Amino acid sequence: MDEMTKDSDNMLVDGYRRKIDYLRISITDRCNLRCVYCMPAEGIDLIKSANILRYEEIIRLVRIAARRGVSKVRVTGGEPLVRKGIIDFLSELNSIEGVNDLSLTTNGVLLAKMAGELAASGLKRVNVSLDSLKPDRFEKMTRGDNLGDVLNGLKAAEGAGLSPVKINMVVIKDFNEDEIIDFARMSIDNPYHVRFIEYMPFDTEAGWQKDKCISAAEIKNICSEVAPLVPVSDTKGGAGPARRFKYAHAKGEIGLISPVSDHFCGSCNRLRLTADGKLRTCLFSDKEIDVRTSLRDGSEDSVIEKILFQAAIEKPERHYINENVFKRCSRTMSLIGG
Ligand code: SF4
Repeated sequence: MDEMTKDSDNMLVDGYRRKIDYLRISITDRCNLRCVYCMPAEGIDLIKSANILRYEEIIRLVRIAARRGVSKVRVTGGEPLVRKGIIDFLSELNSIEGVNDLSLTTNGVLLAKMAGELAASGLKRVNVSLDSLKPDRFEKMTRGDNLGDVLNGLKAAEGAGLSPVKINMVVIKDFNEDEIIDFARMSIDNPYHVRFIEYMPFDTEAGWQKDKCISAAEIKNICSEVAPLVPVSDTKGGAGPARRFKYAHAKGEIGLISPVSDHFCGSCNRLRLTADGKLRTCLFSDKEIDVRTSLRDGSEDSVIEKILFQAAIEKPERHYINENVFKRCSRTMSLIGG
């Protein structure tokens, strides 16, 4: 174990000198919704449960990664709240030395029921994926009718002290861009961080079209119709890729995330762990490195650590969405976790 002790210059850094201190962990490919831009109506071929990483395997990997500089952990899915034992898992994650920012992305359907337990587990903050405030459109988008549950979930998360409560809205032209102002207004009387995310190329039956993507700059102009937007500079609530603004008199904020029109790859600090035990080097790259085998074949921690370093070194400089070379990745969003 001695060579495993933390030493300052042996941290996870990629080939472009970017410090990798953020691990996004997909703990399941199961979900209680069927969002059109994430998975087909009939769902996807689920990963065999035997191939899904066990909580103790994930905890072990995070311990090793934390010794190499990972301090920020986000839990995703599919829908993470559908996996049994998640509360105890979050408590263990939160107790790992070096992990000082634990968050979760959810579709909010189960949030109202679980907000208190989530906060008690040590979870600091939560992102809720929500793309429409209109019940019929929510149903069309998610193939589920739980908008009320999601809205109650936001309130419950706020009441349980999870802060900030962030709302992630993917803006799609001719679908929900007419709701931008309604979402922006939610940041006025509520301490919500409403984040507008550009529509990204993930292949499902709907099929991504570039002309359905509305740029963050356009979204900002629309939000400015409500009132002038003031830039926010503090890093409370997690730095991340969002450019942040607020209305002068608002309790909450507005964030703009522009992976398509103005990417932020230059400051990329993340690796992803898929539910079936692959380290994914980039959201838009199919370059993945298996770590499940070594987590299960009795390998030493030093072997797992080498795989982490290999994944960091193999990170691409950026995505190529706007170039001819761009190849859609083979996994759907529910198998990556965003
Ligand atoms: S697209 Fe890839 S390189 Fe760019 S920020 Fe996302 S994960 Fe990092």
